[in-house]
Amino acid sequence: MRLGVHISIAGGFLQAVARAQRLSCTTMQIFSRSPRGGAAPVLSEEEAERFDRERREAGIEPLAVHSPYILNLASPERMMWNRSLALYREEYARVGRLRAQYLVTHVGSHRGQGELAGMARVAEAINRTLDGADSSVMILLENTAGSGQGLGYTFEQLAVIRGQVEAKERVGICLDTAHLFAAGYPIHTDEGLDDALASCDRTVGLSRLRLIHLNDSKAAFNSRVDRHWHIGEGAIGVEAFRRLLNHPSLRTVPWILETPKKTEAEDQRNLATVRRLIGESAPRAPRGHPPSPEAQGVSPGKKAKRVLLRSRADKAPAKQNTASARFRPTGVNRGHGRQPVGLHRVAA
Ligand SMILES: [Zn+2]
Ligand SMILES: [Zn+2]
Repeated sequence: MRLGVHISIAGGFLQAVARAQRLSCTTMQIFSRSPRGGAAPVLSEEEAERFDRERREAGIEPLAVHSPYILNLASPERMMWNRSLALYREEYARVGRLRAQYLVTHVGSHRGQGELAGMARVAEAINRTLDGADSSVMILLENTAGSGQGLGYTFEQLAVIRGQVEAKERVGICLDTAHLFAAGYPIHTDEGLDDALASCDRTVGLSRLRLIHLNDSKAAFNSRVDRHWHIGEGAIGVEAFRRLLNHPSLRTVPWILETPKKTEAEDQRNLATVRRLIGESAPRAPRGHPPSPEAQGVSPGKKAKRVLLRSRADKAPAKQNTASARFRPTGVNRGHGRQPVGLHRVAA
């Protein structure tokens, strides 16, 4: 499996490769510029080329770039939308120069002007970005916790946006576990996880899933509050992450940690937790090589363990099991008005 972290580019892009290597990452995510705005640091062709070479030599692939938070591609205000589009197009080109595979994109906020119109504006911005752009970078729409008037908190919404994009093959999705949980997908239970993945497959399609943001949640289930937390120490919990990380449908998807950190030690701690959870049944791919066919297949041992986990879960259901098993996000007309909190604030 491919496992990495959101890495800082402080000191330059080459520093990011060094940091990722120290953490033994086999994939990574970066911001290409300050996520809160301001001019992007100069990127020379020489630096871009060296960054690409060193990253590949370190076996770090794919590379995902997260778009800046200040964008709002769903904005009903013409000036804001135009500014967002210009910045997004600039970012898309920059990400291509960095030879990244993915540009992770928050779909934005409709600012009270209606979800359908907001989604149409996002699709329009993506169409204008991809039209005529000679680049292989795939745009990944990220699901959200559904705070405030933010869009993208259901699979249906991601499907609607992607459905209005002309070059659909250039748009996939990125799922954030903390956002799924806060938006009301009960991924903390065995059955809830299977239901969520089935729902994703019926709507936008699991084949479109190219990246997972691996975060526990400090906020409660269905709270619509976006607050990332250390793996296994939040409301999603360690057993849920064991199921997620070993789920047969997710075996080939790269995982990126976006957990809180003041020092590298916190990344190391979360990575160690994840590696422990996949340790027994999912051997990691050697650096620079794709996973072996054996690593991709379901071993009998793993199956037996899943059954065990299921029976244990049956005996001791999580607090929210009963309510959450019946819950289904419906796509539109959900209540609004909660304050956006956390790392993934939607821009005004
Ligand atoms: Zn995320
Ligand atoms: Zn994000």
